Amino acid sequence: MSGVLLALNAGSSSLKFALYEAATLAPLCRGGVAGLGETGQPAHFSAHGPEAGKLSALASLAPDIDHEGAARWLIDAIAARQPELELAVVGHRVVHGGAEFDRPVRVTPDILQRLSAYAPLAPSHQPHNLAPIRSLLASRPDLPQIACFDTAFHRTQPRLAQLFPLPRAFAERGVLRYGFHGLSYQFIAEELRLLRGERAQGRVIVAHLGHGASLCAMRGLTSVATTMGFTALDGLMMGSRSGAIDPGLLLHLILEEGMTAKALHELLYNESGLLGVSGVSDDLRALEADASPAAEEAMALFAYRAAREIGSLASAVGGLDILVFTAGIGENSPAMRARICAFLGHLGVAIDAEANRRGAASIGAAEAAAEVLVLATNEEAVIAEAAQRLWREGAGEP
Ligand code: AMP
Repeated sequence: MSGVLLALNAGSSSLKFALYEAATLAPLCRGGVAGLGETGQPAHFSAHGPEAGKLSALASLAPDIDHEGAARWLIDAIAARQPELELAVVGHRVVHGGAEFDRPVRVTPDILQRLSAYAPLAPSHQPHNLAPIRSLLASRPDLPQIACFDTAFHRTQPRLAQLFPLPRAFAERGVLRYGFHGLSYQFIAEELRLLRGERAQGRVIVAHLGHGASLCAMRGLTSVATTMGFTALDGLMMGSRSGAIDPGLLLHLILEEGMTAKALHELLYNESGLLGVSGVSDDLRALEADASPAAEEAMALFAYRAAREIGSLASAVGGLDILVFTAGIGENSPAMRARICAFLGHLGVAIDAEANRRGAASIGAAEAAAEVLVLATNEEAVIAEAAQRLWREGAGEP
């Protein structure tokens, strides 16, 4: 084998990966380590594909391992399979690239330092994205490492979509709406181009509903508006993040209730959203299995907030031709898709209950003006393609 390409996708409590033949991008295996950080669950490795059994048999994973340790474990497991698996290039999801990184780059120590400056803007992700890059730069400085940014897809947005209504000086120093989940949106845009051709060039809204959740409005399959902003805390209600919230409430909590910045951070990132409203779980599956009124109200609020934001994004693109559901909730919860779509008749959305229940790719009613699709996202595929391209360019190949 000529070499393998590893795509790493670190989330707040997981590390997903996919391994490909570097020259052809033929998939070798994909999987992840769940239960990282303070989830209360032991770390757990799972994978499928031709190489999966051999990798997981290599060593047991310490139950309290962190993101960096999990990445190192994975890379050591791959190294132990040499010469069959010779690591040629690693691609990484990096959540925040700010205004300066609008495309994938090969990471140098200088670039790593610049990316570290964005850690406070994406505290649940950026440190986890950068830790394995830092450790590999030290141990394998010659190994090409390519960073692929969640913010980059949104750099096509018009200026008005990026501006906050604050004094101009803020925008001049980079306080702008950046948007996230760009690797997922890029994958869906490419799928739509293949599946729907000319129609996909119209007014599209993609709902990436997972533990983190956001929407992206596209025209010409480029980003026109999105619900996340300067940080990944804005917009939709999420698993444990509040989403958009009255800024006056934050002032009240600080000034009248004496809340510290640290406590506010914890409240907004880790104690709110589905978890906060239900008091049960940040995981939709657990709420769907729970009969309590609070769990029901949390799901109802999630759908209501998502539907209101879809209305807002429809204004940014002048209507709606295609609505796409993707990510863990979007792909797997017919009940949540139905709840959200129930608000959207005014945009020409109506779903076929049977197609929705059985998880068809197209779930819109035949007579409805807007199409509704359910598409599986694949951020690792976007990372792999970019990493392969830059690796080849670095090796002087066309
Ligand atoms: P992600 O961050 O994309 O992995 O999505 C995680 C979210 O998807 C969690 O809230 C899960 O409960 C939810 N999810 C995954 N599978 C299902 C399912 N079969 N039914 C309902 N929700 C699901």
